Amino acid sequence: MDISVVIPLYNEEESLPELYAWIERVMKENNFSYEVIFINDGSTDGSWKVISRLSEEHECVKGIKFRRNYGKSPALFCGFKEAQGDVVITMDADLQDSPDEIPELYRMITEDGYDLVSGYKQKRYDPLSKTIPTKLFNATARKISGIKNLHDFNCGLKAYRKDVVKNIEVYGEMHRYIPYLAKNAGFDRIGEKVVHHQSRKYGKSKFGLNRFFNGYLDLITLWFLSSFGRKPMHVFGFLGTIMFFIGFIAAAIIGIDKLVAVSNGQQMRLVTDTPYFYISLTMMIIGTQLFLAGFLGDLISRNSSDRNDYQISEEIRCGGNRK
Ligand code: UDP
Ligand code: MG
Repeated sequence: MDISVVIPLYNEEESLPELYAWIERVMKENNFSYEVIFINDGSTDGSWKVISRLSEEHECVKGIKFRRNYGKSPALFCGFKEAQGDVVITMDADLQDSPDEIPELYRMITEDGYDLVSGYKQKRYDPLSKTIPTKLFNATARKISGIKNLHDFNCGLKAYRKDVVKNIEVYGEMHRYIPYLAKNAGFDRIGEKVVHHQSRKYGKSKFGLNRFFNGYLDLITLWFLSSFGRKPMHVFGFLGTIMFFIGFIAAAIIGIDKLVAVSNGQQMRLVTDTPYFYISLTMMIIGTQLFLAGFLGDLISRNSSDRNDYQISEEIRCGGNRK
């Protein structure tokens, strides 16, 4: 199979028939063998009905229904596991991404040798409240990831060599950083293609400022993972040890200072008289705690390799076979 199109969606019933028809037209015009995988991320509207109907009518439509709304990242991750095509294309369901871009994206993967090609919505049709934080976000992501040629990390329209999607884990808000995840997994031929962007035709955007905030926190986690692997112990343990020793040395200096004072004939006073004693004690305690936190993190991360944090309630295989 040439292409798998993976489409995560949450309440997009109006767009789906039009989107599918458009994809089908492009695929047929280009003689691609393909499948379209819709991941219904807990929609509360009639999206699942539409998907069911599409998969009954068309051999190449698969539908997966999540038990509730888990977010775009788990939905993409699930689609990645399902995908069978040599090239995997992701796109949003809201008709903001154009299926007309598919042939060129496919060509860039199969002929130009890219592992991943990310769409770049150079001219966006989104409100300013969204484009400004997005610019800021992309600048940070470029800096941290070291992928300097990408302008639009979070564009929903992307193409991947199959190997890439089978070797990355997308969770939390990580869909924003898939190029970075891919780079960390060793796929560093990452390209960009300017794509046409349209304003939303039906429904409304599901992303707000809180997602941007969560996205930033996930970027820190990701930077951490790529810099230290899954070894929190190596960072916290190091910090903790340093803090403990600073505290310890400070306490020793205070002790020696007291002894010197006594040997000079001054009256013996308790070490607890000085505030420095409490500061050094606190540092030793915090140091120990940091060390233990890192140790715990290390133990836990070794026991949670499978991050499959979604549940599927229904599946429709090609041709309308239910599971
Ligand atoms: N989406 C999803 N789960 C969610 C939120 C969004 O699967 O919890 C889908 C949504 O249906 C769309 C894509 O992710 O297909 C992008 O969402 P949206 O258009 O709301 O984002 P925007 O274009 O405003 O960034
Ligand atoms: Mg959108």
